[in-house]
Formats: sequence, C-alpha cells, structure tokens
Amino acid sequence: MSIFNQEELRCAVCGHVSSYYMCGSMSCFGDKHLDTRPGWHNPRSECFLQCDDCKYVAPNLEEETPITLDWVKRKEYAQLEGYTFESNASQRMFRRYLIDEYLQDAESCFWDLLSVAWGCDSFWEKENARMCRKMALSIVEENHLFEDGKPENQILLADLYRRSGDFHQVEERFANLDLGEEELNKLLQFEVEKAREQDTKRYTVKNALGESDEILDREIVSEDEESQEENEPEKVEETKNENQVQEEQEADTNLI
Ligand SMILES: [Zn+2]
Repeated sequence: MSIFNQEELRCAVCGHVSSYYMCGSMSCFGDKHLDTRPGWHNPRSECFLQCDDCKYVAPNLEEETPITLDWVKRKEYAQLEGYTFESNASQRMFRRYLIDEYLQDAESCFWDLLSVAWGCDSFWEKENARMCRKMALSIVEENHLFEDGKPENQILLADLYRRSGDFHQVEERFANLDLGEEELNKLLQFEVEKAREQDTKRYTVKNALGESDEILDREIVSEDEESQEENEPEKVEETKNENQVQEEQEADTNLI
C-alpha cells in the first residue's frame, strides 16, 4: 500500500493555498512491463501535483517557476489542447507535458507522455494511448533521444513503436540488433515477433521471458457473439478481468 502525507502548499504561480496528499512511499504490485512501467503503478504521475485553482502541475508547487498565471490561464492549457482523458493522472501529466514543451525540455516531455499513455492504458483508452506513444516517438526522433545505445532503451523504443502500430519500424530497427546479453535479446526478439503478428497489446518482462502467462490485455469473444450465424463476420471484443481494472485504476492514484 502506498503512503500519502497531507501537506499545505502555496502555488508558486497563482498563490492559492491548499492541502495536498504527497506520496511518502510507494508500494508496487504487478510485474514490470516491457516499456519500463513497474507493474500497475504510474510512478511519474504520482510525483506531480496539480494546483487546485490554476491547474499548474509540478513536483513541487511552491518552487519558483518561469510559468506565469497568464500562461496557465490560456485555453490550450486549461482545456488540454482539446484532448480528453479519463484519468486524473493522464490529465495532470498531459498538462505537465505542455509545460515541459514550453520549457523546451524534450526528455521530460517524453516521460510525461509515456506517463499519460500508462494512465490511458489503465482506463482502457486505446486511441489516446496510441496517440501519446506516437507523440513520444516523434520527440525521440526530433531530439535524437536515446542514441546512447543503452540496451534497455532499445527495448522501450521497440515497445513504443509496436504499441503505436508502427510494426515496420520494429522490424527495420530491431530485428537484427544484438544487445549483447541473452536475456535482453530475448526481450527484443519478443517485441519483433509480436510486431510481426501485428500485436499491439501490453506485455510484461516475465511474459517475454516465458516465465508468466498472465494476460494484461486479452481478447475474448462473448457468448452472444459465438452463437451468431456462421456467415456473420466474427466480432472480437477486447475486455479484461474486472479485478484487474479495479486494481489498476486504484494504482492510478488520484492525488487531488
Ligand atoms: Zn495555482
């Protein structure tokens, strides 16, 4: 169980004083995902607070910032550039992405968008999740991020391309890449195989290593659909275990 401490803070942008729950310690449950997500938690989103009044988002609301009240009052910021997200975590982290974009901090923008995508995954917002991954990859390409060759980052990138539906990039960039370690190569090859199957679902490291067959996103055909006329095209509905949804959404902590 995560522990949250309540603290009174004064927003550096608008001066509004309010009480916030600060994350003291975080427990993690679930296996690590291939895109570095540690189980069902969304750690980056849990480290950012959003001002109750002006909606400024920062890890420390009281710290001096170049962001002004006029800036956060703009329609684009207040209305998330027209996007809608179900979860508070995704809304909060998309606002932080807009701030980091304004501050020209490309690497933070990347992690903000990944955090938005995780919030979307938890709330089953597939199209938003795909859009955020595509935006994150554009930032990587435009700013030449992750060109240090760090093996873990290659797996993260392969996962982002695959989950955003860009299977061709996975094949081209990663099919013949040697990461120098058997286990890492196994994870990368898993990504390549799934891309060849045009599979955009979530998988854990244990799934990829064959150590777990837990299914995070699964496709089932409902009984009604199975009993349909044979000549009707089969409809496949994606769903997931109710307990899993509940646990995941609880992990997507609403800090405010
Ligand atoms: Zn404020």
